[in-house]
Amino acid sequence: MPKMLETSYIWKNKEIIPWNEAKIHVMTHALHYGSAVFEGILCRMTNKGPAIFRLKDHVKRLFNSAKIYKMEIPYTEEEISQAIIELVKINKIPDVYIRPIVFRGYKELGVNPLNCPVEVVIGAIKYVEYLSGADEGIKVCISTWRRPPSTSFPSIAKDAGKYALGQLIKMEAIERGFVEAIALTVEGNISEGSGENIFVVSNQVLYTPPISDGILPGITRDSVIIIAKELGIEVKEMSIPRSFLETADEVFFTGTWAGITPIVAIENVKIGDGKIGPITKEIRAVYDEIRFARSKKHMEWLTFIQF
Ligand code: PMP
Repeated sequence: MPKMLETSYIWKNKEIIPWNEAKIHVMTHALHYGSAVFEGILCRMTNKGPAIFRLKDHVKRLFNSAKIYKMEIPYTEEEISQAIIELVKINKIPDVYIRPIVFRGYKELGVNPLNCPVEVVIGAIKYVEYLSGADEGIKVCISTWRRPPSTSFPSIAKDAGKYALGQLIKMEAIERGFVEAIALTVEGNISEGSGENIFVVSNQVLYTPPISDGILPGITRDSVIIIAKELGIEVKEMSIPRSFLETADEVFFTGTWAGITPIVAIENVKIGDGKIGPITKEIRAVYDEIRFARSKKHMEWLTFIQF
């Protein structure tokens, strides 16, 4: 990913401050124990001006993540949504990846986070493609790291701690020459990538793992399920054994930053004919139509910004 993606301003605890002044103390609880929850939200230039995709749903998930970790956010969902809008406006860049983060600051150094203050920061960087080669399709591997069961880790929270495992999954993939990896559950079913949900097409049916298989309930995943159903495609949320991937007709990743990325080979086994499949193509076309406001479909998913 290229450097120099900085924007001009950061929102921190209700104040807009210059990018270079947005600093935290080295004894911040979150730095030592990963006591943070965050979101990744996209604003893109559309046919009708810049628009944030599913802002309300991202903010809701942020509050849900915070609730699981007993972090009381000192703002309402509406205030955080407005702060995000304000930040995009003041930075005046239409295509940005927005990163609100709620974290425990410094008060004490023990594991117990409850006495540490809850701080909220919102930053944004200029948008760039996340997975290189996403348009034509990528080759991925199966990670040797497994996603823990929901009895060990709350997968539905987008917490910083989760990304320690995400980093191991990603580094292993890169070291083996792949862009990304698919992690399995402890039982050996498909879970998700380091930062993406996964879908499998077999015999015209769209399969995706359930929330109980260690996945983050992705907002792109939810959008894809809705779009597929509207296109008359049958969708099944169920545990998927690894072997099912190899005989699949199509496989793709979904994520705010990753978009809808076709997977054309897994561990050097070609998926389908090794090119983006027709169902992936169809769903991606509708998803793009919606997020770039090229049609009137699901306009409720877009929050337009006026600079
Ligand atoms: N799983 C993980 C682990 C992720 O980090 C992400 C990215 N937020 C996703 C799935 C996809 O979620 P979303 O579509 O909401 O971006």
